[in-house]
Amino acid sequence: MERPLDAFLAEPTVKKFKKHLSIETVGDLLWHLPRRHYRRGDLTDFSELAVEDFVTVAARIASVQTIDPQQRYGPRGRKPSRTVITISDGARSLDLVFFNMPQWQREKLRVGESGLFSGTVSSFNKKLQLAHPEWEVFDDLDSSKQESWAEGLVPVYPAKKGLTSIAIRKAIGKVLELIDVDQIPELLPDAVRSEEGLLPFGRALAAYHVPTTEEEFAAATTSLKWREAMLLQTYLVTMREFNKQIASTMRPAGELLSRFDRQLPFELTDDQQRVGEAIGADLLRAHPMNRLVQGEVGSGKTVVALRAMLQVAQSGGQSVMLAPTEVLASQHFTSIVNQLGKLAQELHPVLITGQQTAGERRKAALAAASGQSRIIVGTHALFSDKTSFADLGLVVIDEQHRFGVRQREALRSKGISPHTLLLTATPIPRTVAMTAFGDLDVSELRTMPAGRAAIETFVVQQDQQPAHFHRVWSRIAEDVARGRQAFVVCPAIAPGEVEKSSQLADEQPTRFAMADVETTLLNMRTLSALDGIRMAPLTGAMSSDDKERTMRAYAGGELDLLVATTVIEVGVNVPNATVMVVMDAERFGLSQLHQLRGRVGRGEHGGLCLLVTRAAPGSAADDRVTALAQTTDGFEIAEFDLAQRREGDVLGQRQSGAVSSLRVLQVTSDRDIIVRARKAAEHLIERDPRLQHHDVLRNSVKDRLDPDARAALHAS
Ligand code: ADP
Ligand code: MG
Repeated sequence: MERPLDAFLAEPTVKKFKKHLSIETVGDLLWHLPRRHYRRGDLTDFSELAVEDFVTVAARIASVQTIDPQQRYGPRGRKPSRTVITISDGARSLDLVFFNMPQWQREKLRVGESGLFSGTVSSFNKKLQLAHPEWEVFDDLDSSKQESWAEGLVPVYPAKKGLTSIAIRKAIGKVLELIDVDQIPELLPDAVRSEEGLLPFGRALAAYHVPTTEEEFAAATTSLKWREAMLLQTYLVTMREFNKQIASTMRPAGELLSRFDRQLPFELTDDQQRVGEAIGADLLRAHPMNRLVQGEVGSGKTVVALRAMLQVAQSGGQSVMLAPTEVLASQHFTSIVNQLGKLAQELHPVLITGQQTAGERRKAALAAASGQSRIIVGTHALFSDKTSFADLGLVVIDEQHRFGVRQREALRSKGISPHTLLLTATPIPRTVAMTAFGDLDVSELRTMPAGRAAIETFVVQQDQQPAHFHRVWSRIAEDVARGRQAFVVCPAIAPGEVEKSSQLADEQPTRFAMADVETTLLNMRTLSALDGIRMAPLTGAMSSDDKERTMRAYAGGELDLLVATTVIEVGVNVPNATVMVVMDAERFGLSQLHQLRGRVGRGEHGGLCLLVTRAAPGSAADDRVTALAQTTDGFEIAEFDLAQRREGDVLGQRQSGAVSSLRVLQVTSDRDIIVRARKAAEHLIERDPRLQHHDVLRNSVKDRLDPDARAALHAS
């Protein structure tokens, strides 16, 4: 697998692989897996082709027309002959344009033949075409290996301009012919392979590229998924174990925490109690805590984090809490100061943000650097060199998905392996957590504190129920008249301009443009029902100053209504907001809608969420929105949503790490394999922590580890 490709392929081809796909070794090449396979007779649906796409299509030749050079004299004599071959997917057609096509090609590209065609889509006379495509006729493929291709599937590869799927297929075919796939070193422990009935690694790879039957392809797929799952889980378990080798400061709890608990105006929920105990135990260990706490908005994560801070403060340790926005950071700060009560004098909490005056910030930074302040709340400003700590014991990261791994590390590096607590209000289903956060301990706050007024959710069919839709606006007006506030949320900022933070559902109805803030605001200003209501837009297209100003005005009651995009999703706490209207609600992912509605009814008044939809009644999109109206359990919603979301959305930022290298394994649908591979990896590491008896797996894991962990794995 390590051998360079020049032992197998011609120099120019080797160069192209390196240049276009960074493929240099046999292993790189064989892991360049086909995106799909065409069976002879399968045709690509042309309706999805777009100009400038680099595509490989399977199609049938419908007509061939050559304009002979004799008929084409130009000012400088003979022009090249031009052949236009029209290919068809059965419904639509596409022109292939060739100049001076040699006779042998003309003989192959005949009406009725089918094959693969690769090129860049362009448009000519309003018709889509491929100029000088690479091609391959299915009959050709057959002639060499009539037998094995009898039921043959033709692989189509992710390609780049300059290196077509066809060229890749040929190169892989050649390499597979020249090597002995049974010599490819096995990654899986024998026990796992036989228990799970998986193909040997080399066989699985070869069969994934060139399967002879559908059954063989299925077996190869499962076998490769297992290799990916096992490698990833072994890596994650190794990282988690490695973390246990790092020395950190033990932080036993003491009277600070008990005094805090005594003055709490409420009882902790069972979940807060349970998670609190787990954190308390983590902080007593001599290696850093690495825990993710998932809990919906309002589930009481801040108290849990604050209790951890008090435990750390007992031994003089400092805790820092990082929030993604200024508004959120100052809300946390205020709420922490309030909850601390008298304890605030001893712990001297400070706020550090980019919007403070230089003087304020210097003062806060000094309190942090001197150790006087044991609780520091802030935004990205905390990353700055100007912020340092005397004894950083705990890093708390709120809305952890808003920060990259590097940013978290930058903050952690300001202490000596401090404990880390990550908070998220977006529940992640278990298998996803196991993959994306497999190196962390994960806890959940599922029960909500009692005494919270509920949010009611209703679906409004915009087209089918015009009267209901009309009521939406008067409902807003009524609440505003009572002194309450409202949100109207749209998926887009302006016509056709989607908000970046919108996690749109996959299924995109195309009948109408989606609701946008600009147009919606214009329309609303003309409605007599909304006369006199003070409204303003809030979108990601505004400068952060403008956003902050608008948010502050709203929180201060100077505005009644925000017409916003999903930028309001994170953490905004306006207890006086009671109504949320979501336009084209079916366009959003369910978890995001759930997050959004958590913005209203945070105070004593309860909340109302109206999901306005133009989805056809009974359609899948309509069902999803209806499902949301029927439950408020974020974990249930996350599971429901998972099936509908794209892999990348689910994994978010974490995708940039180990997980992005997954090729066959689907975090969204391969739960079973992931769970079993996790167990197998834990079992394996338990018996052989340094993987001394699993050379191939050890080396593959080592490639992924960070330098420190790699050194530790060596030192055995
Ligand atoms: P989160 O950060 O998870 O959104 P918070 O920690 O901000 O939630 O808590 C939301 C509100 O609920 C806060 O006002 C907090 O004081 C209150 N709260 C937290 N835990 C409890 C509890 N056990 N009983 C009653 N109220 C609680
Ligand atoms: Mg919070």
